[in-house]
Amino acid sequence: MPAETGAGRAGVTASPVGEVAAVLFDIDDTLVDLERAMGRTLQSIPDPALDHLGDDDWVRYKALYTADPQRHYGRFLAGELTFEEQRVHRVRHARAGFTPEPFLGSVAEAWVRAYEQTLPLHFRAYDDVVPLLDALDDRGVPYGAVSNNVHDYQRAKLDRAGLQRIRVLVGIDTVGVAKPEPAIYREGARLLHTDPARTLYVGDNLVVDAQGARAAGLVGVWLDRAGGSAAPGVPSRAGRSAAATCAGTRDAGTGERGDASGSSEPEEVPRIGGLDAVLQFLPSVR
Ligand SMILES: [Mg+2]
Repeated sequence: MPAETGAGRAGVTASPVGEVAAVLFDIDDTLVDLERAMGRTLQSIPDPALDHLGDDDWVRYKALYTADPQRHYGRFLAGELTFEEQRVHRVRHARAGFTPEPFLGSVAEAWVRAYEQTLPLHFRAYDDVVPLLDALDDRGVPYGAVSNNVHDYQRAKLDRAGLQRIRVLVGIDTVGVAKPEPAIYREGARLLHTDPARTLYVGDNLVVDAQGARAAGLVGVWLDRAGGSAAPGVPSRAGRSAAATCAGTRDAGTGERGDASGSSEPEEVPRIGGLDAVLQFLPSVR
């Protein structure tokens, strides 16, 4: 694909960098559409207390769960909650806005079991993932993933989404830290046998992915799927939310996603609206 085509369609807002030799990706909402999977899962779990919800209610309920405004996923990353507990806290908070029925005991246990069994059934890669990986393979460019969740859970997620070909995977238990700690991005580059300065890191979270990777010495790129048509240099609403979620905190950058409202001034990093635009960063298509 011509570089101009990919760049134009994706809405890149900063100059491409040169000599990129490898690509690392975030997983959730970058390679795998986790928001969609969570939404479908939430609505499919039997819960009589929510039977009265209309379509608009379901939209708000799912948004509340996925946004995680109380940052329970961050508490998981900080070691304060188990992975299962953060889910329970999140759904309890979302549910409280729609029903007075308590979310405790056997009700919560049954919900967690149903969620765990159902969510993986909905893991899907975005449509632009496989074409990009094909193009990277054609060019001999190695790639991998660095995620803010544990390795084995994300391995299963990639496999379920049909991305078994992504062999290099770094989780928070691989190096004992989460993004935006530099060591986790650098471990990805080490496993790809590339210089971090020549390794692209692409993710949907402006702060934890793009800016965090850049601070670690990689080439951070922000994947802004929702705001790809925004004016050059102007972060989209989604980007501002992502920045607000994560600014200055270790506990940001969700595996199970989470954007909160707020504002901050993000550092300028390359922004793309789709993964096809990754190719323009590679020397062979400049
Ligand atoms: Mg993500």
